[in-house]
Amino acid sequence: MLKSNSKLTTNHPILLIEDDHHYAKLVEIYLLEAELLNCTITHCPSLQLGMDELMAKPGHYAVVLLDLSLPDSQGFSTLYNLLTHFPKLNVIVMTGQSDKRLGVEAVKAGAQDFLVKGKFDEDQLAKALRYSIERNNILLRLEETQGLAHIGHWECSPSEHIFNASDEVYRIFGRPFKHPLTCEDILKEGSPFHLFMELQEEAEQGEKIQKDCWIKREDEEERFVSLTCTGTKTEEGHYIFYGIIQDITERKQAEELRKARDLAEQTARVREQFIASISHEMRTPMNAISGMSHLLMKTGLSGEQEEFIVSIQKSSEVLLGIINDILDASAIQNEQLKFTNHYFHLRELFYQLINLMKHKASEKKLGLELNIAPNVPDHFCGDSVRLNQILYNLVGNAIKFTDKGKVVIEVRLIDNTEEMARLKVLIKDTGIGIKEDTIDDIFKPFSRVLHPGRIYEGTGLGLPITQSLVEQQGGVIGVESKFGEGSIFYFEISYKKELPNNKDFLTNALPITSFDEPFSILLVEDHKMNQLVAKKTLEKQWPKVYVHIADDGEAAIQFLLQHPPVDIILMDIQMPRRDGFSTTQYIREKMDAPQSKIPILAMTAHANVTAHEQYRTAHFDNFVLKPFDPDELFKKIQYHLQR
Ligand code: ADP
Repeated sequence: MLKSNSKLTTNHPILLIEDDHHYAKLVEIYLLEAELLNCTITHCPSLQLGMDELMAKPGHYAVVLLDLSLPDSQGFSTLYNLLTHFPKLNVIVMTGQSDKRLGVEAVKAGAQDFLVKGKFDEDQLAKALRYSIERNNILLRLEETQGLAHIGHWECSPSEHIFNASDEVYRIFGRPFKHPLTCEDILKEGSPFHLFMELQEEAEQGEKIQKDCWIKREDEEERFVSLTCTGTKTEEGHYIFYGIIQDITERKQAEELRKARDLAEQTARVREQFIASISHEMRTPMNAISGMSHLLMKTGLSGEQEEFIVSIQKSSEVLLGIINDILDASAIQNEQLKFTNHYFHLRELFYQLINLMKHKASEKKLGLELNIAPNVPDHFCGDSVRLNQILYNLVGNAIKFTDKGKVVIEVRLIDNTEEMARLKVLIKDTGIGIKEDTIDDIFKPFSRVLHPGRIYEGTGLGLPITQSLVEQQGGVIGVESKFGEGSIFYFEISYKKELPNNKDFLTNALPITSFDEPFSILLVEDHKMNQLVAKKTLEKQWPKVYVHIADDGEAAIQFLLQHPPVDIILMDIQMPRRDGFSTTQYIREKMDAPQSKIPILAMTAHANVTAHEQYRTAHFDNFVLKPFDPDELFKKIQYHLQR
């Protein structure tokens, strides 16, 4: 409770509206003598003069002492007139002995108090004034607090036709206080204030009700409010309701934003899981399709059969490309693109690219040229897989959208320091070109230019993925094109310079050798078709290999406990009974050497297996992604066997 005696020292300006000069003098003398109040008095002999004074000094007077019988206004209407013009005024009325009843009515109508002339002394007068001033100050502070907290209060006595509301209620409803609400306003159906009536109807049945809802203000703005309403009965038997209204629009909006964000995050998580599992489920049978067709190719086929197999292989490559694009696009959206750093030989990478692409180009009778400037270094450290992906996309597009002429790849050195080199790669084609008004759109996901009469395969994901791959490695990408003449796609990218070590030579450059000594592989895989593909692929490459098969992780452990150690283990990840992570961890931690030291390659359809925390803790030696590239599998097995 805040207590203060400042009222005794603060000077309170008081306006006395009284036509009887003698009586006015008496009041002045009383007040000057009163010890309880320190004040200055201004005297006006008529209502009009009083109102002029109030108008001239808005908010100046702490209290108005009002005689109800004035020359220009008589009785109750004196107060009514005054309060209509100054609704917030602190008024104490003075009545004669005969019309004391008027005083009671005046208080009900908004006066703070009433005094009966001749019935008070200086102390009583000072007390009445002081209390009214203090009460008014407290009300002002309450209103300020309500304004800050956006809480308003209201009360209503329908049987007496009384409705009072604090300033904040008006502010919440966006209605100026100049037009105070009346009982009629809240009775009117369809008006925003009818809400108070509805609350009262509900409160009649219970004690206290609480409700949160949207309201539409008169200016059409919508606000979200929290309301309470309580009904009580007075001694005289009147239906009184009072309540609190709080504007919680900002809180509601923040809550809705949070909900929307949570939902978006959850959706993104679900989508990510969905995409990851779909890609896994698609890769597993794809492994069988591409593996089996590789094996079939080596079984002595007729020309027609070979053609069919090539079509199967091409289609599965396209399908795999789409799966990879979708995975990459989803990783880009979730800001999860990962880059690795390892040694690569730049010219070798471009030669391999040309080797791969020359078939596509020659099928369309297009030339394919590579010009690497002589000053471009050979040895770099960076993500060569991603560089390949960028080149594969851009060169693939150049061939796809060119019908005659050639595709030229140029590599230039544009910046060179002791540690870094910045390269500019240009892919020039003599193809269909891109119109000026569509060129800005082609880097947007799923945007594809329609060409009447021609259908070009594609998803519209290649360029946005390529752009992200370049930009997230600190590079820039761009295009220049002339419709009908051709396009130049170019990108700049910096790589660290690095010399190769032995390991890089082994995995990247060495040819696949044949082993003269017999050796054994334990293949842990639950998918029957994939067991067959891997076993046959390995046996075709190395006739002296012995491939043991375990159907799941448990079976693998049992096999290792009961047999002499194998030379290498190929481990699927997702399996019943015991998955590949936990099986590998078991072999590493619970088994004795030499079993615990056997090299283990993860063979998985999980595209981002290395991002998996368990991949590292399980201590795999390497991994091969399914559908596997046979050469990659052979090289990795060979590398670990030779160690
Ligand atoms: P996709 O090739 O799968 O349609 P991309 O994102 O790689 O998707 O390319 C988007 C669009 O940009 C293509 O559909 C094509 O209209 C246009 N485009 C890309 N490369 C070239 C090019 N070299 N020549 C002409 N148009 C191209």
